[in-house]
Amino acid sequence: MTMISERIELDEVYYSLVFAGQNGSQPYEYSFGCDVDGNVDTSNFLPERLALLALCRSGAYGTGVVSRWVTRFIDNAYGTCECGVTLALCGDSVCVCGRAYNMWGKQITIEEVDDDYDQTYTWGTAYAKGGAEYAKYAKVNRKN
Ligand SMILES: [Zn+2]
Repeated sequence: MTMISERIELDEVYYSLVFAGQNGSQPYEYSFGCDVDGNVDTSNFLPERLALLALCRSGAYGTGVVSRWVTRFIDNAYGTCECGVTLALCGDSVCVCGRAYNMWGKQITIEEVDDDYDQTYTWGTAYAKGGAEYAKYAKVNRKN
């Protein structure tokens, strides 16, 4: 097998300034994209959004918290089989020609193939999984 690319795991980190709480029975949450220090770039804000940010910063909705969000993107390694077919190496892969490879592109026998591995990632599906990944990795909060 000729390797085309290695497996990639990439974390995209971003921050938002979040004002969240409860107003009677009504929960609220206002968030604004910001940098690590909570500085909000308002250059593209419409007047209404600017006013909301000012209201939030006045303390009307409690103390803002800078939340750190991490979205992990994973792409498989890719390789070209001896027969010329390109394979995405997610776990063990069996080519149409019958050759089999592990996720690092090493040729293995058909008997060695472990087909329990069920983790097919591409950039596209990583994006589609964003919702779940979001919740999974969004866990570091700190007080502003
Ligand atoms: Zn092949």
